[in-house]
Amino acid sequence: MSKIAIITGASRGIGATTALTLARRGYKVCVNYLSNSKAAASVCASVNEIGGIAISFQADVSKEAEVKDLYRYVNTELGTVTHLVNNVGILFTKTDFAQISAERFSKVLNTNVLSAFLCSKEFVTQRGDHGAIVNVSSAAARTGSPFEYLDYASSKGALDTFTKGLSLELASKNIRVNGVRPGFINTDIHANGGEPDRVKRLSPQIPLGRGGSTQEVANAIVWLLSDEASYITGSFIDIAGGK
Ligand code: NAP
Repeated sequence: MSKIAIITGASRGIGATTALTLARRGYKVCVNYLSNSKAAASVCASVNEIGGIAISFQADVSKEAEVKDLYRYVNTELGTVTHLVNNVGILFTKTDFAQISAERFSKVLNTNVLSAFLCSKEFVTQRGDHGAIVNVSSAAARTGSPFEYLDYASSKGALDTFTKGLSLELASKNIRVNGVRPGFINTDIHANGGEPDRVKRLSPQIPLGRGGSTQEVANAIVWLLSDEASYITGSFIDIAGGK
């Protein structure tokens, strides 16, 4: 049976590497993105270069109608989705909590949590049973990110709770739901927080002494999606160098 995966936010960073790694394992992949069509096309080209099948689709996955459009497109082009990676996540400039506007808080929660809810709901509606979902959380769910991104950390805490509950609701359908919690990974997200060199600065505080690569996160995601993890649901893998 063919394996068909949607990876949200896959034009760059962890999502892009996950899409490519899944394609190497024979999955047909849909590279979802928000606005960077060039980056999404480049991920698809890399998949094609290794003989894989990839399509890209622009959709803001925090919006229900756009999630439905995304699934409709994938159904038509590739078939019913068998695996889902809820990878999208955003953060804004680091600041203490009193400076965070209600608008920013809602935007972060909608993008980081509501998107996973909407994409998972559509997945289950279309799929029925059998399949796997991985939600990309963060070490911030454990630390709370005080004085930096309380909105972001709160969203990841909510995502972890969603992961746990959903795994229990879907267990009888044999749909496994797990989470990964990356720590400091070298991607563009840190520039959005106002500190492109954040991983380098904080490396001395990481027990393994360095930031992680997108490949190191993708490896865990791909493993959790695979049959090698067939008895694992409602679990989390911390990928944070011991932090
Ligand atoms: P990134 O490099 O900033 O990439 C973000 C991706 O999300 C891009 O592909 C972007 O599309 C897409 N995107 C943003 N908003 C979207 C929306 N509303 N709908 C659809 N796509 C959207 O991010 P990353 O660092 O790889 O992070 C991926 C995940 O890992 C996130 O959930 C993040 O919270 C988590 N994480 C990252 C780290 C880290 O250190 N990097 C640590 C812990 C957790 P465009 O290219 O079109 O903008």
